[in-house]
This record gives sequence, structure tokens and C-alpha cells, in this order.
Amino acid sequence: MANMRLVLDGAALAENWRALDRLSGGARAGAAVKADGYGLGAVEVVTRLARAGCTDFFVAHWHEAQALAGLVDPARLAVLHGIAPGEEQVAVSGVAVPVLNSADQIARWRQAGGGLCHVMIDTGMSRLGLDWREDIAGLCAGLDVDLCLSHLASADEDSAQNELQRQRFEQVRGQVSARRYSLANSAGIALGSGFHFDCTRPGLALYGGVPCPALAEHIRPVMRLEARVLQVRQVRAGDTIGYGATFAAPRDMRTATLSLGYADGFKRALSSIGGFSCEGQRLPLLGRVSMDLTCIDVSAAPALGEGDWIAADLDLPLAEAATGISQYEWLTQIGRRFDRVWLD
Ligand SMILES: *Cc1c(COP(=O)(O)O)cnc(C)c1O
Repeated sequence: MANMRLVLDGAALAENWRALDRLSGGARAGAAVKADGYGLGAVEVVTRLARAGCTDFFVAHWHEAQALAGLVDPARLAVLHGIAPGEEQVAVSGVAVPVLNSADQIARWRQAGGGLCHVMIDTGMSRLGLDWREDIAGLCAGLDVDLCLSHLASADEDSAQNELQRQRFEQVRGQVSARRYSLANSAGIALGSGFHFDCTRPGLALYGGVPCPALAEHIRPVMRLEARVLQVRQVRAGDTIGYGATFAAPRDMRTATLSLGYADGFKRALSSIGGFSCEGQRLPLLGRVSMDLTCIDVSAAPALGEGDWIAADLDLPLAEAATGISQYEWLTQIGRRFDRVWLD
């Protein structure tokens, strides 16, 4: 057992999915579960979302799809990166359905035998997908397309690019006969019914991230970081704490050293701005976060002792605002050393 744990609220995860599904109007919400369920654990996430009624799941890599075998209908598990050379065999193995992103990927799919597939259209991000100005109808002729997708570049901003991408996607829609169409990620859901089409693909907001103010009231936090106190010390006025001696105690203080550091995704950018909570008291971070250790002021929590667990004040939108590190990075860079404890 580790001296640090992620406490994960499965009820909040399911509730967030239901809220996003509701906000998707006539469309059904799927779930982006790539990067190991944004760091929380894809198997646990998918199990709970499937129970809540979610049927469409999106991963980036084939090995991510293989890790979910048996948990979901492979016909409803999509691999966003499609088929790189050498991946033809796994792509036709039935473990998941590829999202075809380029003319070459389409050719590889046909060559390998083809079958049910998805197609990604690039409508202005210049990243993955068939260029919306290409002969989409010609490229996709004869393909058995379930989802025709595109991805919004600026959904979390009030940007004219959103409407532009929506119009381009509408235009492409006339050229590909797919069973279903899908454009919106988490923030895209908040842009309104014109962006919903048949299926939405939230990721961040499922896990408690808040990509735009309109979603704030609908999303509950899912993850709490907790660490154990390894040592309690009495430092004296003038003593310095941690690497670089960036903090000098202004008075005698009671401090605690916690089993948690930047190797666990508890970023050094939090040094001197982050904190913990214990029974309503805020316990500020002191000095720099080390690789495996963090020091805090526990003067306000006299009962706290070695072995006690305390929770980090890691509110995702606030952490993003304070450090410039995105909520996506906070989630996906959470370390492997935590015990992941699901409450529900
Ligand atoms: C990651 C991803 C999503 C989910 O986006 P969020 O902003 O996390 O909601 C949706 N669609 C595609 C293509 C993605 O790559």
C-alpha cells in the first residue's frame, strides 16, 4: 500500500456523464477514455460509465482498446489514431473500430479487408483527418461508415472558429453517408444544439474538469489527492525549508512532511501557492515541492501526527488559473504511485 492515494468518486463520474448526456439534447454522449481514462484508470472509468448507460468510448491507441476488451461492445469502441503502417492486423481483429484519418489510412483499411469504420474530417485544426476541402465523397466511397467525426479547436473559447468549423462540418455531412455524426467534445456540448449532431464525445468534464464557465454548475469533482504525513517537525524562526531554501520560517512553526512530490504529478509550479486541508483548516505549502516530498505548515492543525492522511486543495480550474498548467495536464500527468481508491 502506498502512502498516497487518489480517492475517486464513481457516483460523481456517473453523474457528470448523465449531466453531459442531458446537455447533449437529442444526441447521446459517449466518453473519451484515452490516456488511461485521463489518468484515473480506464478500466474503472469504463466499467462505471457503461453501468450509467454510456455506450460509445474513444481511445487514442490500439493497446488502449485492447486493455478494455470484454468491458464494452468492440463495435462501439473507437481508436482515434486510426491505422498506422503495421497496425492493419490489430485493426481488423475486432478489438475496436478505427477512425480513418487520411487517404493512406483508408487505403490500408480497404487493403486489410475493411468493414465498419469511422472517418475523421479536419475542419480547421490541421491535425488529424481528411481535409474538409478534399473530395470527401470520393475518398469515402464504398466505406461502411458508422461515425463521421470532426474536432473543435477552440470550443472552450468564445471564438468565431466554432461556428466556422460547424458550417464546414455541415457541408461535409452531405458528402459522407455515415450512420451518425459527431463534433462536440466537453466544451462543444455547451455551445448549443447546433453542435450536438448524433453523438458527443466529452472527456475532461467527465473527470471533473471545467473547460468553460457554462459547464461549471453541472460538473462535480471526481478526484481527490491524499497523502500521509511522514514526519512532523518543529522548525525555528529563520530555519529554511526544502531545495533552494526558498522559504525561511518567519517564526517558530509546526510543519509536516508529506509523502507526495512532483514525480507524482504534484507539480513544482504549486510551490508556495498550493495547500492542503485538514478539518476546515488550510495548511499552506512551504518551499519547493520535491520529487517525493512536500512540506506544509500545520500550525493550525495541532492534532495532526505521523501517519495521518490529508487532502490536497487541488481544484482543477483554480490550479489551471494559478499555474498555467491545463486541467488536461493535471489529470493525465497524475502519477502511477498512487493507490486508486474508488468510493463507488
Ligand atoms: C480527447 C478528445 C475528445 C475529448 O475532449 P475533451 O476536451 O476532453 O472533452 C473528443 N474528441 C476527440 C477527437 C479527442 O481527441
